[in-house]
Amino acid sequence: MMAEPQRVIFNNVSKRYPGGVNAVDGVSLEIAGGSFVALVGASGSGKSTLLKTVNRLVEPSGGDVRIGDARVDAVPAPALRRRIGYVFQNVGLFPHMTVGENVAIGLKLAGARDTAGRVAELLALVELDPALATRMPDALSGGQRQRVGVARALATEPGLMLMDEPFGALDPVTRDGLGKAIRALHDRMGLTTILVTHDMAEALLLADRVLVMAAGRVVADAAPRDLLAGRGGAVADALVAVPREQARRLAALGE
Ligand code: ADP
Ligand code: MG
Repeated sequence: MMAEPQRVIFNNVSKRYPGGVNAVDGVSLEIAGGSFVALVGASGSGKSTLLKTVNRLVEPSGGDVRIGDARVDAVPAPALRRRIGYVFQNVGLFPHMTVGENVAIGLKLAGARDTAGRVAELLALVELDPALATRMPDALSGGQRQRVGVARALATEPGLMLMDEPFGALDPVTRDGLGKAIRALHDRMGLTTILVTHDMAEALLLADRVLVMAAGRVVADAAPRDLLAGRGGAVADALVAVPREQARRLAALGE
């Protein structure tokens, strides 16, 4: 199972909600196919809005978004979304459908009939026991539910994964395990991944490139190594200072 990694281009993208602020304010950047990019910033800085312009849950007020060479609005939204995996906090599994039915929903919409084998394969991919396919979502732990959400997002073999705080409601150990699993899937399946998180440590540990947003703009764009070396500017420095200071205090405790 190997999809074509997709390049994403934001060309002067803006979004002003009716009666509201400039949630996204003139963002231009290119995300290389195959890269794992983290989008970090304070609550309200525009991360989710920018991410949703890619799968058209948000229509930009200005500018355009491309995947490869094609504008995202060149095809109907449902066709676009079949090529893009989307995982968000509290995944939104359908509560009245089994785990297996939830995972298979994209396959069914695309016309597949016998999906049992594929569902088992997808559950194994996210390190879940395929026997869980017959359970209902409320009979799973939060971490298991998020893994089901990832399996569902991967079902149609998208080349692009969008993740909006997918670990938000999880305990730290589960969160760390799922983060590593997602990075491994990214590498193994040749995905392009854009991960929204407010956790700078998570961004530094998982991503190849970190974009920092503030007030709708991208104010830093650097590799983790460069951010840690203080080359990301003031806003990025303030965010990096938190995990750095925690690491220092922990190291001191252990001495
Ligand atoms: P983040 O994901 O970084 O927390 P958002 O993209 O959700 O930020 O929000 C950016 C700004 O846009 C915030 O000021 C938020 O209140 C506003 N906003 C987000 N969604 C809507 C909406 N549907 N209608 C009006 N304003 C919105
Ligand atoms: Mg958000």
